[in-house]
Amino acid sequence: MRYISTRAANEESITASEAILKGLAPDGGLFIPQSFPRIPETFTLTKGAWYAMYQALLPYFDGDELSDDLEEICRNAFSFPVPFHTEHGKDTLELYFGPTAAFKDFGARFLAFSMEKLLEKRNEDLTILVATSGDTGGAVASAFHGRNHLSVKVLFPKGRVAERQRMQLTGWDGNVTSYEVDGTFDDCQRMVKEAFMDTSLSNLSSANSINLGRLLPQMAYYVYASSMYEAKYGEEAVFVIPSGNIGNATGAYWAKAMGAPIKRIVLACNANKPLTDYLESGSYEPRASIKTLANAMDVGAPSNIERLFSLFPDWQSFKANVEAYSISDDEIRRTIREVYEDSGYVICPHTACAERVRRDRVEDEHSVVVSTAHPAKFNDIVEKEIGREIAIPANLYEIMHSESRAKSIAPDYRNLF
Ligand SMILES: *Cc1c(COP(=O)(O)O)cnc(C)c1O
Repeated sequence: MRYISTRAANEESITASEAILKGLAPDGGLFIPQSFPRIPETFTLTKGAWYAMYQALLPYFDGDELSDDLEEICRNAFSFPVPFHTEHGKDTLELYFGPTAAFKDFGARFLAFSMEKLLEKRNEDLTILVATSGDTGGAVASAFHGRNHLSVKVLFPKGRVAERQRMQLTGWDGNVTSYEVDGTFDDCQRMVKEAFMDTSLSNLSSANSINLGRLLPQMAYYVYASSMYEAKYGEEAVFVIPSGNIGNATGAYWAKAMGAPIKRIVLACNANKPLTDYLESGSYEPRASIKTLANAMDVGAPSNIERLFSLFPDWQSFKANVEAYSISDDEIRRTIREVYEDSGYVICPHTACAERVRRDRVEDEHSVVVSTAHPAKFNDIVEKEIGREIAIPANLYEIMHSESRAKSIAPDYRNLF
């Protein structure tokens, strides 16, 4: 099994492990499989979610140096449930039972355990630098905390992250250090870039969301969930996916390409509309992001669009396979209220985008809304709509109650070392 860059289809190919360690392809493109494998004959739902995900991942590591370690990596990384919630006959896939209560835990944890194994084999150490304005840093810090051969430096802008997010960034010790930068998110990103360019510093890496090691697990839970759905209802489901950088949804397209029982994939975006505009006009224009209530989806230039373009290279085939709708902040608020009034079920602003799309745009009887985060992470928005407090779930509680240990620094990358 080999991987190529989205930008140079005929250039050399590399293994999954090499792609995981490299992150970005040398030409600036994203790694994609040279061709899609089929779901293995041995795939089974009887041994739990993590095992099904392991089976879905196996062919992607065919001949790879990690193939013998993959079972252990999956058991460790996917150590939490992946349940469906059913309300009035409609299903929601809850991807928020990991340690930071959002779907990014799947990718970040798989990447951390994979990198740990690869570094162990090489007897090398790596320092991961992450600039974050919110969620990604917490998922990465949590996933890499306690992993051997790896340390993490998390940079976030002072006074610009929500209090609950701040707690998830700063409640760490050991191999994770957080830096509260006296500056903006752009300063944090610049500091990371400058550190990477400083040739006197070595063994630096990133845990960027475009890393193949973060994308593959997102493919795996769609193979699992679509198979569960089909086993339960005897039907293929339409998946409605809250999307920003389009990594989660790309996982669904890869699962479908392997033969997973997925009828259609529908992307729910917030007011950032590069994708819906492309579907309408045929010309793709990345742009600056705008702020919305579903802030983890505030992306104006989604990096994974390159992976979708490699699947569907021209506008016609893109339109035939990709369906996307844009949801306003008013619709997000209204949907959180409506769902709560209908059934008492509480959803986060990102999930609300997908639920709105399901209610207004998906005719099919069989649909699954993908829930990307626990609503307690966005309590300031959600509680206003439902008129009551949301309890902090057990998975988030521990980190929210650890001692805060951020180092305050001026916006100069040399303060990190
Ligand atoms: C990151 C994130 C998204 C968007 O996922 P993409 O893969 O970037 O499309 C949606 N919801 C939540 C809660 C997220 O953290």
